[in-house]
Amino acid sequence: MMRPRRGRLAASDVTQAAPVSRPVLDLSGRPEATSTEGKNAHLSWAARSDVGSVREHNEDSYLVDPPLFAVCDGMGGHAAGEVASSIAIRTLAEEAPKEADAQALGEAVEAANAAVIAGPSHGEGREGMGCTCTTCVITNDRMAVAHVGDSRLYLLHKGMLVRVTHDHSLVEELVDAGEITADEARTHPNRSWVTRALGSDPDMYADRFDVEVEAGERIIICSDGLSSMIEDAEIEDIAVSTASPSVCVDALVTAAIVAGGHDNVTCVVVDIVSDGTDEAAHTNAKRTALLFSLGGVIILAAVVIASVLLIGSFWYLSSSGDRVAVYQGVEGDFLGLPLSNLNYVSEVKVDDLPEALQDQLAEGIPVSSQENALATIDSYREQLAADQAEADETASAVGSTPSTTPNGEPITTPDGTSGTAITTDEPATTSEPVAGPMAKDETTPIAGGE
Ligand code: MG
Repeated sequence: MMRPRRGRLAASDVTQAAPVSRPVLDLSGRPEATSTEGKNAHLSWAARSDVGSVREHNEDSYLVDPPLFAVCDGMGGHAAGEVASSIAIRTLAEEAPKEADAQALGEAVEAANAAVIAGPSHGEGREGMGCTCTTCVITNDRMAVAHVGDSRLYLLHKGMLVRVTHDHSLVEELVDAGEITADEARTHPNRSWVTRALGSDPDMYADRFDVEVEAGERIIICSDGLSSMIEDAEIEDIAVSTASPSVCVDALVTAAIVAGGHDNVTCVVVDIVSDGTDEAAHTNAKRTALLFSLGGVIILAAVVIASVLLIGSFWYLSSSGDRVAVYQGVEGDFLGLPLSNLNYVSEVKVDDLPEALQDQLAEGIPVSSQENALATIDSYREQLAADQAEADETASAVGSTPSTTPNGEPITTPDGTSGTAITTDEPATTSEPVAGPMAKDETTPIAGGE
């Protein structure tokens, strides 16, 4: 009885379209009618549910929660059938997978069955209520289908309508047995008897299978209020000739009502706008790029933190202006950012130090710590002080040599600058003989370079 199907259907299952005249009916203001429509990059959809022309209440429910779609046809009369179908829809919305997973979708329908059975014990509905359930989840090029009862799912592929689900009904069994035709089934007095439904058997099994889909295809899910009122050929004609899901769904409901509207009629129409693979690839590429970016940021942050910690442990001596200074870090920069901080500037002048040391300071002299750096500068001070002391001592020793002439005039060099007199036991001589007393403003030339 159950006939799970997998993959694309054979052309032999296809019903050829036949031209029909299009009924005209204003659906606006219909009692107990609901509708919705929408679209995204992958799918475009519309749904409509109508009480029909005979029933007082609408016991059908539908679900449009892309990529999940469903139709449930309630049974059990007023205040029961609509409760059963609404419980099933609510459970599906909670339990259905987010991706096309037929097994998970079938289990969601079975969870909906358990929820409908448990409804009366929670004060929802009453014993004996039940519903059909036909649902699908469409992601990329795959559609998962789960199904119980005589609601239907059709696929319009290249202008041909294919019924994807198999009714769980008495008349379907009679058709399968060859006792009646499909047309006779639509008018059979027991056409509403279902052989499997939600709400009675805790062990009920939901048919489940996958179907490959592609851009340009149209999916129609409907209650038997449509399929029992018009032929599949008319459904196909409407599906082929309507441009959008909303126009299609209105035309289907209109056709069912014009044909008599003996039952509640509910349709969900979904167009596959794109196969979703480009979108998925784009999404994956963006996700991958984002992950790489995040990874890169994390690695860079780790490197920066490690570098800051590592650099903070280095010290070196160099110059700041004309003074010897202490730096924390390392010489140079990274991406324009300096890798060191000026920590201390001493009073020691770089120019006072030996030239070799000046060259080393220009390159930077690594030291092991700040204390070491300060101690090194102290050693410079001590060395300079020692040099100065030595110079002073030398100067003191030389200091016995007058820096002025015996008459108190400062001794100047031939170029006019003052200088320290060089004392000898020999009298100062000049290149030219001194002729008598010199004028007060005349300097005594010092013979040099002889
Ligand atoms: Mg029905």
